Amino acid sequence: MKWSWRIGRIAGIAIRVHVTFPLFLLWIGLRDGQGATAAAFAVGAMLALFTIVLLHELGHALMARRFGIATRDITLLPIGGLARLERMPREPRQELLIALAGPAVNLLLALGFGALLIATGGPRSLVEFDLLRRLGAPAVGHVILAELVAVNVGLILFNLLPAFPMDGGRVLRALLAMWSQDHLVATRRATLVGRLFAAAFVAYGLFASAPNLVLIGLFVWLAGSGEASAVATEAALERTRVAQFMMTEFRTVDPADPLGAVADLVIAGAQQDFPVLADGVYVGMLGRADLVRGLREGGADATVATAMATRGPVVTVTDHPEAALAALHDAGGRAVAVLRDGTVAGLLTTENLAEYLLLRRSVT
Ligand SMILES: [Zn+2]
Repeated sequence: MKWSWRIGRIAGIAIRVHVTFPLFLLWIGLRDGQGATAAAFAVGAMLALFTIVLLHELGHALMARRFGIATRDITLLPIGGLARLERMPREPRQELLIALAGPAVNLLLALGFGALLIATGGPRSLVEFDLLRRLGAPAVGHVILAELVAVNVGLILFNLLPAFPMDGGRVLRALLAMWSQDHLVATRRATLVGRLFAAAFVAYGLFASAPNLVLIGLFVWLAGSGEASAVATEAALERTRVAQFMMTEFRTVDPADPLGAVADLVIAGAQQDFPVLADGVYVGMLGRADLVRGLREGGADATVATAMATRGPVVTVTDHPEAALAALHDAGGRAVAVLRDGTVAGLLTTENLAEYLLLRRSVT
């Protein structure tokens, strides 16, 4: 994430702090009307809160690791923490467990601090605590422990709101995906619910002048929309076949053709790479670099056969875009022949795959 510093590494995961975070602490500390002790206490409380948020994010990251998903980094922002997983699991059960692992950490912390509160002779119930507070009698240590319990319970409740992509929203998507067996439909529905919550956060944040809630609302809206469109693109790519984006207007050459004639074709048209057919059978590809080298070494009368690449990757019309990408990668800068029933039906270049993705993006 831009504008963030790495402050350390826990369990192999980089922990980053966004530049706005220390500014936020400064703002908390320098607010008017509080003495030095109160300011130090306020900053200490924020640091404690963000340690708890960090542990929550580590809960997500370590559960994801169990499913073989690495976490790029965890960034702390004034509005909370963000664990960037390398990818989102497609298995709903995995997404469910990863989403629940964060609040589960808060549950353990709340139980731990609560047990400590009771073990140290603190109040055993909210009613008792409230009574002590009214009498002005609770010990400072007990107040802090009670606040820690309250913060963790608050984080559980807030994170489990079904506002995709917050934890509760991920739980909702996972449940919808289990129920409908359709990742895309589940994502769309969860995003819709998430947007309702986002709008409510912003409206309430403005109404109650809580800037944090406005920022969280905007984040939920933008991050939810971003993830929904990524899922839509992925689903569209899964349905796409090479036949939809291959070049179908192209020239072929014969192994016996002189390179000079091919050079004329390059100059006359836009095509740079030529499939080589011997009696209609695909035998190799003559790339632009092959042509230049062949001309330099053998002159215009040298044949295509002397310069072409005979062993190159091919794809078929029914292959997926991923197969096309892999083949283009292996082709070493040359175009890739697309076969249908053994004959060349199309030509594939990095440019026309990129162009297809670009055009498709602007249509949807
Ligand atoms: Zn979380």
